[in-house]
Amino acid sequence: MAPKLLRSRCLSFSGPPETHAPDYLPDAVVEIRDGFITSVQSAADFSTAGHNLDHCEDLRDCLLLPGFIDAHIHFPQLHILASFGTQLMDWLDSYAFPAETKFADRDYAEAQAEPFLQAMFAAGTTCAAAFTSVHPHSTDVLMQAAHASGMRLIAGKVLMNRHAPPELLDGKDLGLPASRQLIERWHGSGRLQYAVTPRFAVTSTPQQLAGAGQLAVDFPGVYVHSHLSENPGEIAEVAKLFPDASSYADVYDRFGLLTPRSLYAHGIHLSDEERNLLAERGSTVVFCPTSNLFLGSGLLEINRFQNQKLAVATDVGGGTSYSLLTTLAEGYKVCQLNGLSWSPFAALYAATLGNARALDLGDVIGRIAPGYEADLIALKTDTIPVLDNRVAHASSLEEELFACIMLGDERCVARTWVNGNVVMER
Ligand SMILES: [Zn+2]
Repeated sequence: MAPKLLRSRCLSFSGPPETHAPDYLPDAVVEIRDGFITSVQSAADFSTAGHNLDHCEDLRDCLLLPGFIDAHIHFPQLHILASFGTQLMDWLDSYAFPAETKFADRDYAEAQAEPFLQAMFAAGTTCAAAFTSVHPHSTDVLMQAAHASGMRLIAGKVLMNRHAPPELLDGKDLGLPASRQLIERWHGSGRLQYAVTPRFAVTSTPQQLAGAGQLAVDFPGVYVHSHLSENPGEIAEVAKLFPDASSYADVYDRFGLLTPRSLYAHGIHLSDEERNLLAERGSTVVFCPTSNLFLGSGLLEINRFQNQKLAVATDVGGGTSYSLLTTLAEGYKVCQLNGLSWSPFAALYAATLGNARALDLGDVIGRIAPGYEADLIALKTDTIPVLDNRVAHASSLEEELFACIMLGDERCVARTWVNGNVVMER
């Protein structure tokens, strides 16, 4: 197949911006072939090498970025974002569990998969780590839809066997045989990977957590995806349920659930000991600012995670936006309340290569560079007049990007490519 040639401004990161200057080309040609980026060069070099710039699609009014990576999101919660008036434990009972109960119907679950993926593509998200529901078919339908679109997705069946409505609980087998089958069916199939997904320590017995840890041993390379230290009421409940554990993080560690491929959403109230334990195990804490503000959970101090793995995510539907731009804007405000100004380069690195590295996919996605999978977005500001005006008065790339983060959202994602194919165009 003939390569695609895109001519545009182009920005990506080869490492944290504190140590690696951003890779920025004001006039670049990006070549895509068979789902991969095969070359990135300046238009001048492209032309000097004897190529014809007329063969490129002209996107010079856009900024190409690597697709955003959402390190924590819930598939069954697409209808409950912006649900009023509760904090975590009541929010689960009032909104999340009823929404997930509907996923018992396979046809219903299947009908939600495409809209869920489209909501992510519209926001410029090209890879995600997603909770499904406790029903094994909810993982099947989401994996099938992701496979059909070519999206890189990490997902898994939720494990719960206590403290949730009876119709959402795993039975005597603890949901483990179903998880095993799903791993065998989906993990490593194309761009799909599986995450063993105990919801959180409150909703699993020690036996179920031990079974989950065993899955991570039996299937090296699978992810572990869960929640940790989000809300004071939750933390008190965990201490009551696991009196022998020295901390919330220690509960997971006792069951072998702190692995280098473990993702723990929130981690707001972790002690220094817990953070050190996570660092020792190589596990990732996922910063979910819109969710943490919306549910009143607290303000994550990201400056305490300088030597640890930290990712960033929307946490829809506790989070209130599919847009990583909006998520970074709220993240900036959370940091401000902690006395830190999160730079636009650092924030955009976090949502792209930073998250890719946290997911152990930093050699595959998260950059616009030869050999990387072609997950890209084109940003354009003229769909938001206030932003467009602000950008017109920006005197540096950094200032422009900060405006895009603070004033932008999914409306300024003009196009999204997954695996080299356009999956959304505005
Ligand atoms: Zn969550």
